[in-house]
Amino acid sequence: VDPPATLLHAFAGAVERAPDHPALAYFDGRLTYRETGALSDSVAGHLAAKGLRRGDRVAVMLQNSPHFVIALLGAWKAGATVVPLNPMYKSAEVAHALRDAEATALICSDRAWEAYLRDTAADSPVRIALTACELDLQTRNDTRVLNFERVAPRASDAEDLVTVARQGLAAPADRELTAGDVALISYTSGTSGTPKGAMNAHGGIMYNAERQRTGHPIAEGSAYFALAPLFHITGMVCELATCVANAGTLVLAYRFHPGVVLDAFTEHRPAYTVGPSTAFMALAATPGVTREHFASFQVISSGGAPLPPALVEKFRADFGPYIRNGYGLTECTAPCASVPPEKEAPVDPVSGTLSVGVPGPETVVRIVDEKGEDVPFGEQGEIAVSGPQVVPGYWRRPEATAEAIPGGELRTGDIGFMDEGGWLYVVDRKKDMINASGFKVWPREVEDVLYTHPAVREAAVVGVPDAYRGESVKAYVSLRPGAEVAPAEISAYCEERLAAYKYPRAVEILPELPKTTSGKILRRELRSRS
Ligand code: ATP
Repeated sequence: VDPPATLLHAFAGAVERAPDHPALAYFDGRLTYRETGALSDSVAGHLAAKGLRRGDRVAVMLQNSPHFVIALLGAWKAGATVVPLNPMYKSAEVAHALRDAEATALICSDRAWEAYLRDTAADSPVRIALTACELDLQTRNDTRVLNFERVAPRASDAEDLVTVARQGLAAPADRELTAGDVALISYTSGTSGTPKGAMNAHGGIMYNAERQRTGHPIAEGSAYFALAPLFHITGMVCELATCVANAGTLVLAYRFHPGVVLDAFTEHRPAYTVGPSTAFMALAATPGVTREHFASFQVISSGGAPLPPALVEKFRADFGPYIRNGYGLTECTAPCASVPPEKEAPVDPVSGTLSVGVPGPETVVRIVDEKGEDVPFGEQGEIAVSGPQVVPGYWRRPEATAEAIPGGELRTGDIGFMDEGGWLYVVDRKKDMINASGFKVWPREVEDVLYTHPAVREAAVVGVPDAYRGESVKAYVSLRPGAEVAPAEISAYCEERLAAYKYPRAVEILPELPKTTSGKILRRELRSRS
């Protein structure tokens, strides 16, 4: 059976099969598939009435809330391409995306609108603004928002998303999207360089969602917990699209907050979640966490960032579930390799790296040298990916597209290798390599060792300028609650386990490591501290 062409087709299927099943759960409230469908129809009708045309860009800048999903579906029903923006973006970052994508509509939180987005939008192509009063942690028991009552007085220059959604308008009938249409312009999350807009096609989203759904069968209608943010491709595909394709309930919790997440696990008994490894580190270190919190899970996946083998083992020993690694990029519309069901990812005996899995069907992963030629099994090279989930290119950037995706094959910028069994290993990002006296040091290998230290909660390794070696290895760590250890002890622990040029000669302990909102540790920020 072919996957649905777009998420809207999958959604329509779920409305037909399970109209009264909750599509979204948010703190104390629920919205059924039928209700969510009607609210998003109305948003679509409104956008069309305001002059939005098929193919126009709608920027959506919201946290994990029902408003996000209603805005997204509404924009697609109006035939638009959605530009998901990270709500943590500052004015200049938003301005870049709005101008670059030529977004004519913006849907955001009313607080952000009042604070700075009104000014940002004034100097942009945006003509239509819808704002939403999102429920925040401080007001988590305030169900007024979910019941779609306004809380704050409305500014006259933007319309209220919820009021618009409740107008009962019909979606325009002539805008059906196809698999080849651009669903999203995703500005890459910015752990490197200037953000470029990767064009994720509807077909790519559904290809990956169907692979997830059929690869790890979960009973239709189950609860999916959205640990990863929906504005990031992992959340969009592995949480939202996979859940909708399975007529499941997507459990949303605004932002990642370990205590709130664990409460939601207890309340909703989710069968599935996916998040960055840092989220699992945080959950594992939360006071009061028990095995019972994880008892309902059938599949827990980690993706988007390195997964230390020590975390997988400790998590299984302490809480039960096996965390399944997966490898993906925005440009691959989320995963391009994952661990097949019934299997566990092997650990490379030489480097200690945990495999990220095997490429999915119709996905070809090659390990290439500088010239794009295949390197032999076991040898390191750049990971190159082709398949139905790879984006056709970057929005209005033919040169960047030709460089990163020559002939439709994505050069990921990640160094990796493949073993004879076809298991893929990600060594590290090409640009994060540390050159210590001419020796290559891959930060991830050192981080994997740091994670075996009982006091270490989070770790990141960067190269710092060194007059003698050119660069030397420095580690930043945060500690588990209550743990005490001196930096020199951590350095000595690594010295026992790593070659002399690899172990971190400098270790700095921070209360918390800087992260993107999708949970990735920002090595770049740490480098600039050094
Ligand atoms: P930018 O593209 O601006 O640098 P970003 O890299 O954070 O931002 P994403 O597309 O979210 O953008 O991240 C993809 C990257 O995440 C991959 O290129 C890889 O380096 C890393 N990654 C993803 N999954 C894994 C994994 N399982 N193990 C190791 N690294 C991973």
